[in-house]
Amino acid sequence: MMIVTVTMNPSIDIAYPLADFKLDTVNRCEAARKTAGGKGLNVSRILHQLDEPLRATGLLGGALGEFIKRNLAEAGIAYTFSEIAQETRNCIAILHNGEQTEILESGPTVSEAELVNFHHILKDLLKEATVLAISGSLPKGAPTDFYNQLLDMAHDKHIPVVLDTSGASLLAAVQHAHQPYLIKPNAEEVASLLGISEITNLTELKNSLQSELLREIPVIVVSLGSDGALVKAGEKIYKVDIPKIEVKNPVGSGDSTVAGLVSGIYHKQPLTDYVKKAMVLGMLNAQEATTGYVNLANYDNFYRQIKVSEV
Ligand code: ADP
Repeated sequence: MMIVTVTMNPSIDIAYPLADFKLDTVNRCEAARKTAGGKGLNVSRILHQLDEPLRATGLLGGALGEFIKRNLAEAGIAYTFSEIAQETRNCIAILHNGEQTEILESGPTVSEAELVNFHHILKDLLKEATVLAISGSLPKGAPTDFYNQLLDMAHDKHIPVVLDTSGASLLAAVQHAHQPYLIKPNAEEVASLLGISEITNLTELKNSLQSELLREIPVIVVSLGSDGALVKAGEKIYKVDIPKIEVKNPVGSGDSTVAGLVSGIYHKQPLTDYVKKAMVLGMLNAQEATTGYVNLANYDNFYRQIKVSEV
C-alpha cells in the first residue's frame, strides 16, 4: 500500500540567483537551478526523503513534461502521469538582494478527454493507495469542482484525502458531500473561504474555524509560518507553538508540512504526533535554500520543542 500524490498543474521551477536585478537591460545568471516543481511534487520529494512508499501522478506535456519525469526518476521517485498535448509550464523566481520576483506561467489548457484519461490512471492507482494527497491549482480547462470528482473516487475506496488548494476549488471541496479528511489552509485562505477580508488574531481564526461551512471537515491545519499552527480536529481546537529558528528560504514549507500530515495519516499516528511532525518538516524546509529538501539530522531536536495545547 502507498501514498498517491496528485499535481494537476506541475511546473519546472527555475531559480535565477542574481547579485543585482536590473530592469530594461541584460541580466546574466551564472547558476540557474531547474527542478521539477508544483506543490504536489514538493510534497512527493519530502515524503520520499522520509522513505514513505509513494507514487506521484498528475498531468505532464511536451519536452518540459519529459524533463520533470527525468528529474523525478533521478531522485528515485515513482510516478505515473497522464500525458497532455500542451506543454507543461515554467515558473521563474528571480532571487535578488534578498528579494524574490516571480513569474508564474498559467500553464497548459487541458481537454476533457485528457481529464478522463487522468481519471482512469488515478482509479488504477487508488487500488493500492492508503492516502491521497492533492496539492495546488487546477490547469485551465479543468472545471472548478474537478477535485470533487477525485474526492468521490477516494470516498468509494474509503481513502482519506489531504487537500491543499485555494480559491474556488477549495470552496467547492469543503461544500461537497464527500469532503476531504484534512485541509491545510493558511489564515488568508481561511478568510477567503469565509468571504471575510482579513483574520487579524488567533481568536478570530478560532471563531472562523468553528463556522458552519467548516463544521464537518475532520481535520483543519491552519499553518501560521513562524507562529506554528492552529488545528481543528472535530470539536477540539489546538494551538501548536514552535521554537524560533533561523530561516533561509520558507518557500515550500507549507508543502513540507503537508508531507508530514500525509505521512502521519499513512502511519495512523495520533493527531498531536503527526501535527508535530508536520511542523518540524516545515521548519526544516525553511532552513534550506532548496525548496522541498529537509535535513533530518535536526528532526528530534525540533520535535521535542513543539508544544500542542488545547485552546
Ligand atoms: P504556507 O507556505 O502554506 O503559507 P507556512 O508559511 O505557514 O505555510 O509554513 C508551514 C510551516 O512551516 C509552519 O507552520 C512552520 O512550521 C514552518 N515555517 C514556515 N515559515 C517559518 C518560519 N519563518 N520560522 C519557523 N517555521 C516556519
